[in-house]
Amino acid sequence: MRDWRAARVRGFAPSIFAEISALAQAHQAINLGQGFPDFDGPLEIKQAAQAAIQAGHNQYAVFEGEPVLRQAIAAHALRFYGQLVDPTTEIMVTSGASEGIWCSAFAFIEPGDEVIVFEPVFDCYLPNTLMAGGIPVPVTLHTPHFRFDPDELRAAFSPRTRAIFVNTPHNPTGTVFAREELLLIAELCQEYDVLAIADEVYEHLVYEGARHVRLATLPGMRERTVTLSSSGKSFSLTGWKIGWAIAPAPLQVALRRMHQFTVFESTTPMQHAIASALRLPDDYFQNLIAEYQAKRDFMRETLTGCGLHPANPAGSYFMLASIEEFPHAEAVEFAHFLIREIGVAFIPCPPFYLQPERGARLVRVAFCKRWETLEAAAERLARL
Ligand code: GLN
Repeated sequence: MRDWRAARVRGFAPSIFAEISALAQAHQAINLGQGFPDFDGPLEIKQAAQAAIQAGHNQYAVFEGEPVLRQAIAAHALRFYGQLVDPTTEIMVTSGASEGIWCSAFAFIEPGDEVIVFEPVFDCYLPNTLMAGGIPVPVTLHTPHFRFDPDELRAAFSPRTRAIFVNTPHNPTGTVFAREELLLIAELCQEYDVLAIADEVYEHLVYEGARHVRLATLPGMRERTVTLSSSGKSFSLTGWKIGWAIAPAPLQVALRRMHQFTVFESTTPMQHAIASALRLPDDYFQNLIAEYQAKRDFMRETLTGCGLHPANPAGSYFMLASIEEFPHAEAVEFAHFLIREIGVAFIPCPPFYLQPERGARLVRVAFCKRWETLEAAAERLARL
């Protein structure tokens, strides 16, 4: 039979997250793979969604986002980062940050453009860059602390560089880029006239000792940064898929052209509910951090106790762990063994690297789960 697939999709494998989730389910393993909480976000936000449905917010939304949500996004940016954003011209609501990544890639990358990514890299940056005709240029976040070497970053920039993806806090490493690191990125973006696509979906998951810095607020970055974020992680509602892109008006025009001819608009009642979520008091965000920080510490101890070598992430709800004490296993094999024999699912890291073998000794563990889930996983892992 004829192969109907366009050349641009032929090289892509199924998502590692879906693959591991399916395998976990088939073996009734505790799923610490794909990053989604096994608890719901705040009751009042779920009620706000129900109220929005009852109130008749059920037809197409304004295509660039409901005004009430764009105002809440602007208020949130001002409250947490002192960032002044015009909700009318500088914000677009997306179906999760994933759509924002797609729109950014297709709105700004020309065939042949080089696009810098930090490696390990969240999986979808690569296919999006490639489908747009871009050439990914990796900059390594080095073990054990997963930070970049400033000289290597500088060497990655060239007159052919069009854009850089900056994911902070970073998935899968949990690295929170320090202000000085972001200042260097900002300096290079300006020197080489490069666009920054800042994926900040874990902005509220930053633990003691670290601080999230919004790249767009650094000097000279406002006009060359697309800030992507979403509600999924901050409000434990990953299935609602409400995200947003903040960017100056000329960039918005391009983003909105991509959005209008793909998803067109994101679900209306959820937009109204997330508008309330973004206005939750500071307590809400502080409690979320405290809870996740305790879970991070618990998971680190658990992993260390069973012979894995976890990193100590300052942000996100992931941690990487090295499997160096299991010398005969490679990460994919190890993850499959763990699901089948131990009953716990992790993500093997090869898909996060351009050369998959570079991730062969690493697995990613998600700790965004209820205490009873983490404790049950710890019990099973003790058999390792
Ligand atoms: N962000 C989620 C993770 O890293 C995955 C989302 C997805 O499946 N694309 O686990």
